[in-house]
Amino acid sequence: MVECAAQAPTGFLLPDRQPSDLNADMPSAKPWMLRIGGALLLAAGGAFAVAGLRTADKPVAVQQLVESVSTMGMDAQIQSLSNSSLHLFRSDTSRSSDTPDSMLTRLGVSDKAAADFLRANPLVRENLLGRAGRLLMAETDEDNHLLKLTARWATDSNSHFQRLVVEQNGQGFQARLETGDLKASVKLSGGLIQTSLFAATDDARIPDAIAMQLAEIFSGDIDFHRSLRKGDRFSVSYETLEADGEPLKSGKVLNAEFVNKGKPYQAMWFQASEDKPGGYYNLQGQSLKRAYLASPLAFSRVTSGFSMRFHPILQTWRAHLGVDYAAPKGTPVRNVGLGVVDSAGSMGGYGNAVVVKHNNGHTTLYAHMSKILVKRGQSVTQGQTIGLVGATGWATGPHLHFEFRVNGKHQDPLQLARQSETVPVPAHARERFHTLAQEAAQLLSIQAVAFANTNP
Ligand SMILES: [Zn+2]
Repeated sequence: MVECAAQAPTGFLLPDRQPSDLNADMPSAKPWMLRIGGALLLAAGGAFAVAGLRTADKPVAVQQLVESVSTMGMDAQIQSLSNSSLHLFRSDTSRSSDTPDSMLTRLGVSDKAAADFLRANPLVRENLLGRAGRLLMAETDEDNHLLKLTARWATDSNSHFQRLVVEQNGQGFQARLETGDLKASVKLSGGLIQTSLFAATDDARIPDAIAMQLAEIFSGDIDFHRSLRKGDRFSVSYETLEADGEPLKSGKVLNAEFVNKGKPYQAMWFQASEDKPGGYYNLQGQSLKRAYLASPLAFSRVTSGFSMRFHPILQTWRAHLGVDYAAPKGTPVRNVGLGVVDSAGSMGGYGNAVVVKHNNGHTTLYAHMSKILVKRGQSVTQGQTIGLVGATGWATGPHLHFEFRVNGKHQDPLQLARQSETVPVPAHARERFHTLAQEAAQLLSIQAVAFANTNP
């Protein structure tokens, strides 16, 4: 973690660019060749030296020298340019609908023999055609003939990836399947909320998986569906696994800070002992996992795109004593805390609804669902999907109506989630935790400064 601190500011200043990005920016080698040719042609016209110097007291004689310079002939120039064979690199991602022709066309390859090979080769058919999301890199000559095609993809392993290489060896194409080592590195990034979390993470080129982890990590403190404000900001460092220098998949968030309505929340991943899974803690050593999630809908690109409309029937939170989350029909509804299903079925205006009984006289209610996935008396864990969003009962459009009651009295779910007890780092690991927490605090403050400088 100390090593990455030194790199923190660059993470903000220079959006990382992969070699393939740079190559992709170069439309073709032809303009290059023309420019080089032009320079040589100019030189062929001869060399001029015009002396026009004069000093203050004495004019200097002006003399024009004309001297011819021998240059290569046109043919030789063209020959030498074509000998310095230009290789072009282009990258893209495979699509499930790809045919060899559409894939090669997207990669700027124009090569019938290559397309025929891809169509016929069993390794290619099995590992590339019909497979979406594989990183592609094509190397061509200046006539857009294929020299090498590489596809890279992740497997379940966090240490290895697969690489398929199709190469022109002079006589024809050959294909081989290889296993490569994934290299873990740490990325530092941050963003400012203008419209939504995903707009900000897109701007910062942060993968969706990391954006969703961020929302999940802080879900006990911030309801990302309804608490985000313009001007909120975040810093995050996360693992990324690279295949031959290309980010292939993201690992976990290591440190993060989220400033919501001016209040900073910090998180650090920590594993107290090897035999237990790690988790997120604030820098004071309290686990961020709470007895209740602040939101019954997982934060995703889909749910974040739905801003809540004015409640058509019961107009304010106070009036109808719940929170409404607009979301597409079928979005999973998750139980916010450990409990037992108290009722599950049709409940008048609530439509298909589930009531879960938790400890301490707490109950939660989930209404208007299109489908219920639990039964009365069933134990449910935190985060378990108990139904799907719908528009049953008094609902003019698909949304989830959510209530939290303490001994029958309605409470604001977010307040309750925040108040719920947290677990501290176990005593035996506290010293190690505090050392790491200091490093994390330093890293986050460097990031915050770097971010403020780039977003004045
Ligand atoms: Zn409602």
